[in-house]
Amino acid sequence: MATITTPAKSEKPNGFPAENQKQQIMKALVYHGAGKKSWEEKPKPVIKEPTDVVVKISKTTICGTDLHILKGDVPTVTDGRIIGHEGVGIIDEIGTAVTNFKKGDHVLISCITACGKCEFCKKAMYSHCANGGWILGNTIDGTQAEFVRIPFADNSLYPIPEGADEEALVMLSDILPTGFECGVLSGQVKPGDTVAIIGSGPIGLAALLTAQFYTPAEIIMIDQDDNRLNVAKTFGATHIINSGNVNAVEKVMSLTNGKGVDVAIEAVGVPPTFEICQAIIGAGGHIANIGVHGKSVPLHLETLWSRNISITTRLVDTVSTPMLFKTVQAGKLEPKKLITHHFKLDEIVAAYDTFGNAAKEKALKVILTNE
Ligand SMILES: [Zn+2]
Ligand SMILES: [Zn+2]
Repeated sequence: MATITTPAKSEKPNGFPAENQKQQIMKALVYHGAGKKSWEEKPKPVIKEPTDVVVKISKTTICGTDLHILKGDVPTVTDGRIIGHEGVGIIDEIGTAVTNFKKGDHVLISCITACGKCEFCKKAMYSHCANGGWILGNTIDGTQAEFVRIPFADNSLYPIPEGADEEALVMLSDILPTGFECGVLSGQVKPGDTVAIIGSGPIGLAALLTAQFYTPAEIIMIDQDDNRLNVAKTFGATHIINSGNVNAVEKVMSLTNGKGVDVAIEAVGVPPTFEICQAIIGAGGHIANIGVHGKSVPLHLETLWSRNISITTRLVDTVSTPMLFKTVQAGKLEPKKLITHHFKLDEIVAAYDTFGNAAKEKALKVILTNE
């Protein structure tokens, strides 16, 4: 049998001289196993499928999930992966099958990639897309880089209108839809409800902002960081509890006359915070987990079995992104309030230090700008 030789790229009849096809280099934040990351050179991404685009990042940010990845909590992220799943940018290259966008378009990147065709996409459960889902900065290279390849661009990007505030829109890549869908929608927040949100970080605050679409009577924020709790107060929390200083469960039970809360939203991802949710949930209530958990948590069926409660888990589907986009554009929701720090993209390691020491640095969201 004859050996089949594939022609070298330079021999393709495309008219390009070989030197134009040399791999281009960019800088990116790369994960190298638990506790290890570096800002280093990587090949600039190229179009692999006709449904792809390559986006030049203009602004990105760091997520609590990235800290979980760096701790080694997310085993699907392997050595060599560029992390990050939030950002806005400009389309730099475009696949031949992309119809909603063109080169040069200004776009918001969704943290969830959706093929639009699989069984899960047909149910609007994009987080579990058979060909996508949460892959950016997880199983494919992500947005903490100068360029990123976005698969299924028609379903995974949103056009940014002229004059829109890019920094506010970065909050729509992940945290606002996550706080809203996994916390507020799963928790079925209703007018008059008493809601407790455990964790006053960016995701908990996003849940706090979007819970107010439904006018709950009370929103109790629980955290161990006074600065974050004070921010929560200015964002509409009716009560704040520092669980480092007082027994949060006793405090919530006394605030609710022993009844517990209608909705408990877990926005941290560690066993003690989920334990608080189980201890404060009232009869008929909903525990909505948002946190990324790296450890198992005991489920207290010995007390919960008779309480008519529900417990939900969810990965954000980003089905609410178009609605949230409109509320931001209309000025009804001001996610920019979550931004506390600015860095240049090549200062990302320093930005991680700031974000990772959030209490000391009074950090919520950091914006990284690619200049
Ligand atoms: Zn995120
Ligand atoms: Zn799909």
